[in-house]
Amino acid sequence: MKQDFDLLVVGGGSGGLACAQRAADHGARVLLAESGRLGGTCVNVGCVPKKVMWNAAGLAQAIRDAPEYGFSVDLRGHDWAALKRGRDDYVVRLNGIYERNLERRKVELVRGHARLAGPGAIEVGGRRISAPHIVLATGGRPMRPDVPGAGLGITSDGFFELAHRPERVALVGSGYIAVELAGIFAALGSRTTLVLRHGHVLRGFDAMLAESALAMLREAGVELVTQGVPESLSREAEGALDLSLADGRTVGAVDALIWAIGREPLTSDLGLEMAGVTRHALGFVRTDAWQASNVPGIYAVGDVTGRAALTPVAIAAGRRLADRLFGGQADRRLDYTCIPTVIFGHPPIGTVGLTEIEARARHGDDAVRVYRSSFVPMYHALTAHKPRTEMKLVTVGSEERIVGCHVIGPGADEMLQGFAVAVRMGARKRDFDDTVAIHPTSAEEFVTMRQL
Ligand code: FAD
Ligand code: NDP
Repeated sequence: MKQDFDLLVVGGGSGGLACAQRAADHGARVLLAESGRLGGTCVNVGCVPKKVMWNAAGLAQAIRDAPEYGFSVDLRGHDWAALKRGRDDYVVRLNGIYERNLERRKVELVRGHARLAGPGAIEVGGRRISAPHIVLATGGRPMRPDVPGAGLGITSDGFFELAHRPERVALVGSGYIAVELAGIFAALGSRTTLVLRHGHVLRGFDAMLAESALAMLREAGVELVTQGVPESLSREAEGALDLSLADGRTVGAVDALIWAIGREPLTSDLGLEMAGVTRHALGFVRTDAWQASNVPGIYAVGDVTGRAALTPVAIAAGRRLADRLFGGQADRRLDYTCIPTVIFGHPPIGTVGLTEIEARARHGDDAVRVYRSSFVPMYHALTAHKPRTEMKLVTVGSEERIVGCHVIGPGADEMLQGFAVAVRMGARKRDFDDTVAIHPTSAEEFVTMRQL
């Protein structure tokens, strides 16, 4: 039977666009369906506008430090609305670039909500379209807790809609978004409260990073409310919000409350049940090592699979799948181990590989040797506040193969990519030692570390 296309992609975010474009580069006839704005979460309500805000917060910190570098600064405030305008314009430009990239590759773009419609077909915009391969790349959305008044709060999506900077803001959560947004608000001058249901941030990251991140948030003036389990959210007569906690405490009054408690997959009304596609308990599409679902011809990439919800992961999975299906590269697939990641806090946090605890659990205490460095980076030699940069290398075996590389401090975000290559290639501590340092940098500490 003649098929309309070779590949149908549902979702034009990081993973879907990457897969569609790579498939088209291999000569496939591709249709992509997108119900919202091209670029998905990352471009519209994620990495890109977040990084703009992170840059703004970094500038605020630099202005604060400027007198200590001899500048006489007469700061007359900060125009959040102007920043938002510039940021939104940039995102609109990116939306256009993504659309033109599809046109250039002759990928047909259909606007609208798509759903699976029988074997080898989707339905979108009143059309039924067939192809032997269908890739689900529908991403996810932020979750809200199931407590009374939760709708009075916003999520990261709402953060990007804020027309003004809230004077008082509370964030609930302890992961990437809570840490990143708390840092941004604090640097830009909001009275910021972070509500943690336990006592930590960044569970699952190396303890050195998590502990240091918490200390940095405190130092930045973020009020930390620990053991704070949300019970309800209510609005006072004057419009401010109060968060009631299970133990009777109240957090408030605040002008905005942001839920940052994780994301759930966008799979509603996608026709998964009808097509027989199985999901995990949390709703993510179940995929194997080849991004294949249990139904032949239906694949999934990116956040909707629940595996390492990061843009480069979605892109890599999408491209490799296209290479495998249309590029004659039968063995091409994404290896989900050793994925580097950065939390854009103030300061940033970079990590790749195993935490110390994971390495000890996997290889045994005797096989693990850890190197650490803790220092005030040179930038802060002249400033009154002296945050410490913390670094750790986790090695295993007699060869001291580096299996974990962790850093919190200025420059961590740009530092880590190169080290991730080394870790991926199986570098040993000796290879780091044999590498000549670049001076004066923070990164050089990674190649000059001694065991404490
Ligand atoms: P998405 O980008 O979410 O794209 C899915 C697309 O599918 C959307 O455009 C949606 O409209 C569309 N869609 C959904 N259902 C349908 C349907 N039925 N029919 C048609 N279209 C549909 N990652 C990083 O690596 N670095 C960062 O700094 C970073 N910062 C982030 C900051 C925030 C605030 C957030 C929320 C996320 C951040 N991420 C970051 C994560 C990153 O944005 C995601 O991992 C990435 O966007 C996932 O890509 P995706 O293609 O799987 O899904
Ligand atoms: P995360 O999964 O990073 O963290 C959410 C945390 O909130 C949980 O781990 C949990 O921590 C806590 N939590 C969960 N439920 C509740 C609750 N009901 N009340 C209070 N706290 C709760 O989610 P985010 O929303 O921060 O980010 C989603 C994903 O997006 C990230 O995992 C990441 O993959 C991606 N992202 C990546 C970024 C980057 O690359 N820089 C930036 C932003 C997002 P605990 O159990 O310890 O209390």
